[in-house]
Amino acid sequence: MDNTHKEIVNVIRLVSLLLLLLIALSCSKESDMIYSPYIHKEYIYKGQLHCHSNKSDGNGTPAQVFNAYKKLGYDFVCLTDHDIFAGENATPKPDGTELFSLAGVEETHAEHIGRIGSDVGIVSDNAQVIINDIVAKGGVANICHPHLVGMDATALLAITGYDLMEIKNYMVEDVWNSYKGTDESLWDQVLASGRLVWGVAVDDTHVMDRDLGFTSVMVYANSKDEILDSLRNGNFYTMEKDGSLINKIDLVGTTLYIEVSDASDFDFIGSGGVFQKNIGVKSTYYKITGEEGYLRVRITNSASGKHTWMQPMITGLNSSMVNYNVKILSETGRVVIGSPIATLFEDGRVGVITGVS
Ligand SMILES: [Zn+2]
Ligand SMILES: [Zn+2]
Repeated sequence: MDNTHKEIVNVIRLVSLLLLLLIALSCSKESDMIYSPYIHKEYIYKGQLHCHSNKSDGNGTPAQVFNAYKKLGYDFVCLTDHDIFAGENATPKPDGTELFSLAGVEETHAEHIGRIGSDVGIVSDNAQVIINDIVAKGGVANICHPHLVGMDATALLAITGYDLMEIKNYMVEDVWNSYKGTDESLWDQVLASGRLVWGVAVDDTHVMDRDLGFTSVMVYANSKDEILDSLRNGNFYTMEKDGSLINKIDLVGTTLYIEVSDASDFDFIGSGGVFQKNIGVKSTYYKITGEEGYLRVRITNSASGKHTWMQPMITGLNSSMVNYNVKILSETGRVVIGSPIATLFEDGRVGVITGVS
């Protein structure tokens, strides 16, 4: 081989190496980045986001409702009588903590909308006007039993600004025995359409047992603001009575590890259906491919058949970001790949981004 030929071979090698490097960079694992609403916090607070007293069509005075939930070990309750506003207060519990009653009402002039932790509202038959008012007053809006009030995915996508939607309402689904599972499948349609909404299970107590559907919120401290922040940011799970408690949610690189209290079936659900099923285990993991779009986990207690629902993560973040309308605010809030950090998005949500290096 003459020198010229050698040089050509070297140049080809160099170009090939550069090309490989470029390909590696362009496929850099940014596409594998994952947004998770779960930030580890010291305490888990149990709360009820939808219930009634005799101020509207429930049984028991507001004080009796709060005492009933206090006895059941709740940390917060939002009393949501129909169009009758309940203000906030905090009452001590025997263990020295407090039961917060978040200010609330179920607005029923338009579709039924839970006003949680906001000041008293305005009367309007326009759902968007109500939601805007809730957000402006520092509260969190919850779309109650969407199917029951005739809302389909198109209707849910036509309004914005709400953070929560009910995916399990005991009053509607188990007392009236109606629309069972429909609101959960509406949730999937909304998520698959690129809207990040958190799902909640509620009692909607009227004249029935309490503590059938509730929410477990992660907080640093005994504070109403912390509860509202975590509700807004999806840092909670929601469940049925006798469902499995979650002991661990860990996202390490692109692997999601979950550990629960009892043997359970795990459904890993994303755009297009169930991606993985694990039967009868207490702990499991799922390797995120980045193709899921959103990823949520439904945990079914093997003994009771009752559910626990985790909130959705977004996978393949760079490609999904546009769909989910979440944009990282600034370079300073930017991701260090492999090092989960709290990151603020343009739409105000806080979560953890992780990926592989
Ligand atoms: Zn209602
Ligand atoms: Zn209600």
